[in-house]
Amino acid sequence: MREKPAGEIIPKTNQVIVCRRPHGTAVDLCEQCACGMLMLEESVAVACVSSREIYRWVEAETVHFRETADGLLLICLNSLLKRMENGANETRNHPASTF
Ligand SMILES: [Zn+2]
Repeated sequence: MREKPAGEIIPKTNQVIVCRRPHGTAVDLCEQCACGMLMLEESVAVACVSSREIYRWVEAETVHFRETADGLLLICLNSLLKRMENGANETRNHPASTF
């Protein structure tokens, strides 16, 4: 009797992110990838990190961002998700980030 070949285990996750805004509020699009942009508080909730960490990512330009004329910081959702995917590896490679 033949044994079944050992299959590769590929973890898959499906995630749906819903950000509700006041009625009539326009969604800003990223100038680099045309993805929707989040406000800082929304980015903190999505990434499950502190606002300070988001500011670090912005200063390191590892996420797409834009500042509005009112001084609001907007973060690109697409680049935020990519940063989160790569975050564990980068943290392991650079554990001593100090501010
Ligand atoms: Zn973007």
